[in-house]
Amino acid sequence: MFNQTNINLGKERSVIREIFEYANARKKEIGAENVFDFSLGNPSVPAPECVRKEIGNLISNTSPETLHGYTSAAGAPEVRAAVADYIAKSFGVPMRPELVYMTCGAAASLTATLNALCNAGDEVIVIAPYFPEYRVFIEAAGATVVTVRADENFHIDLEAISRAVGENTKAIIMNSPNNPTGAVYCAEELAGLAALLKSVNAKRNSPVYLIADEPYRELIYGAKVPYPMCYYPNTVLCYSFSKSLSLAGERIGYVAVHPDCIGAEELFFAICGAGRALGYVCAPALFQRVIAKCLGKSSDINVYKKNRDLLYDALTEYGFSCVSPEGAFYLFVQSPEADAKAFSERAKRHELLIVPSDSFGITGYARISYCVDGEMIERSLPAFKALAKEYCLKG
Ligand code: PLP
Repeated sequence: MFNQTNINLGKERSVIREIFEYANARKKEIGAENVFDFSLGNPSVPAPECVRKEIGNLISNTSPETLHGYTSAAGAPEVRAAVADYIAKSFGVPMRPELVYMTCGAAASLTATLNALCNAGDEVIVIAPYFPEYRVFIEAAGATVVTVRADENFHIDLEAISRAVGENTKAIIMNSPNNPTGAVYCAEELAGLAALLKSVNAKRNSPVYLIADEPYRELIYGAKVPYPMCYYPNTVLCYSFSKSLSLAGERIGYVAVHPDCIGAEELFFAICGAGRALGYVCAPALFQRVIAKCLGKSSDINVYKKNRDLLYDALTEYGFSCVSPEGAFYLFVQSPEADAKAFSERAKRHELLIVPSDSFGITGYARISYCVDGEMIERSLPAFKALAKEYCLKG
């Protein structure tokens, strides 16, 4: 009677959400201070001062119909201009405001882009481990997911991608800094990927598009994040301020289409059309104007760096195996047993709530979100130590 695909999507809660709900229930039972919830990627650091200041300015100095009224569907003209100007000045890509579309966060950026690009029968490559919602977004756009494993350090495996690209490949999604691994792709990797895609395109009528999903661009601990558009013109950049400015609940981001992308204007129309069909109407008006004044800023990432160091040092000392994350706020730890779900269940008995890797498209790992209170990490360390001991890890 109703749409079965959507019934299924609505019923099967994401594993991450399920663990988060369990954590909340458990906190009521045994006290919040005794539960170590590392499930969600919800920023724990306050939005930077510029955000608060700008909200105050706008409320004091803007007429109500402008402040809270509709903007143009693609965004307020001055905001699109500010974003284009920021991209041009920061990365040297001659971005035009007409190719910037304001969205309700990265999820909306991705769904609008995928619905714009894809027709039935198209394939979209994702690099595993990947953000679980990619599968939902790709399939809702009528396309098929093709999974390619990252290499052993969670970087791009060019040979694997080259084997996976076929005549139906419409796009590849890359996410750097990465959720769930914290990997940051370097310039050589992007150059290699661009060279591969260009050689594929030379034998086809239409290009493979690169969808760069970048909500964590500013969350880095020493690494540099090369700008994908500088390497490959057929790039659509999906950005969000959810993580960089700690505005996850305010739903604000953008899509930017490279001006030299093949069919750029047509693709931009398709993105606007997809946004219209999805009922987005326009991105939140107040926060469009807030972010226009805070471009390039970020919350205090030193807090995340401290958390990363604390957790990484302790876990490796206890004998767990993990790659040190260069960005984002996730630690991807190898499961000491093959079944990551069993590992997470065992962790749960120590009140440690971590996410098994299966929903990220690979087995044998668990994701630990360290966008949490540093004191909670401190309190959780004896539990991690006890867990390591259960597995007889050398520590
Ligand atoms: N892409 C990745 C890799 C993410 O980790 C997230 C959120 O966690 C999103 C997209 C969605 O971000 P937003 O909250 O801006 O929609």
